[in-house]
Amino acid sequence: MGEFELIRRHFQRQRPARADVPLGMGDDCALLLPTPGQQLAVSTDMLVEGRHFVSTVDPAALGHKALAVNLSDLAAMGAEPLGFTLALALPQADDAWLAGFARGLFELADAHGCELVGGDTTRGPLNLCLTVMGQVPPGLALRRAAACVGDDVYVSGTLGDARLALEVFRGGVALDAAAFTRVRARMERPTPRLALGLALRGVAHAAADISDGLSGDLGHILAASGVGATLQAAELLRATSDDLRANGDMRALEYALTGGDDYELVFTAPPDQRDAVARAAAHAGLGVTRIGQIDATPGLRLLDMQQQPLALPGRAFDHFA
Ligand code: ADP
Ligand code: MG
Repeated sequence: MGEFELIRRHFQRQRPARADVPLGMGDDCALLLPTPGQQLAVSTDMLVEGRHFVSTVDPAALGHKALAVNLSDLAAMGAEPLGFTLALALPQADDAWLAGFARGLFELADAHGCELVGGDTTRGPLNLCLTVMGQVPPGLALRRAAACVGDDVYVSGTLGDARLALEVFRGGVALDAAAFTRVRARMERPTPRLALGLALRGVAHAAADISDGLSGDLGHILAASGVGATLQAAELLRATSDDLRANGDMRALEYALTGGDDYELVFTAPPDQRDAVARAAAHAGLGVTRIGQIDATPGLRLLDMQQQPLALPGRAFDHFA
């Protein structure tokens, strides 16, 4: 199977393109027609074998995750997906692997109406690089630099389960089969919170997706906004799963703060928007937990039930630390 046959067989699709994708893959460039007046939101994420995933991972799960982590960036910006490109380096053209990968990829793409509009395919160590494009009306993007003193800090869903799954794979924790299935799905098939991101337009101030751990990703918001935050440990624990808390509150706090790969959203909103945040969460069918507040003192603080400072466990993941 040659390069073009591989692309045709696994990535070329027959279904009609979106109206705002007048020309999809197959030409020198794709042509997109975003809604006039909207801003184009663009983001790239790379997944490298041995670094972001192991070679034995289910290819469908990998296809899902490669797109999910990119869509998660659109969600964190409050952008609506349009399309994406896929640059793929493969050690060999393995038909069964490619079919599984494409199935996982397109299932998620179709669920969000996000069209594959082009890419590049080459031989090399397994490596995936996706670029997603979305759109957002001017002024409504959820930027990291927009947090204000007095804002509430929220997270969506539950944090730390992907890190728990990793710990099971490393042999540091044992879970029963049902719990392992749940946390493994959180790690291998993260859900981009697109509906929540859209519903938070005009409600939230700042947002980011949690790819490297809450302390790191909230830390980016704090640094960009020139503010600090104080989090309540008891509230943060409410944003962890029963599976994680069953392994102890201190572990749950540590994984919630520093575990990567959750792809939930962390966002800030002024207290007068609490009802609107609740409505946005209900609309997205997703729980959100208010975990603390933005304040003027730079840095991130964690308080226990007696409002005493707790040491922040660990560090967020950093590829070059
Ligand atoms: P170029 O010569 O411009 O690099 P290619 O020959 O690499 O183009 O690709 C031919 C067409 O197939 C282009 O439209 C490109 O966007 C598309 N394409 C290549 N690889 C992929 C891929 N993995 N997924 C989707 N589209 C792809
Ligand atoms: Mg090419």
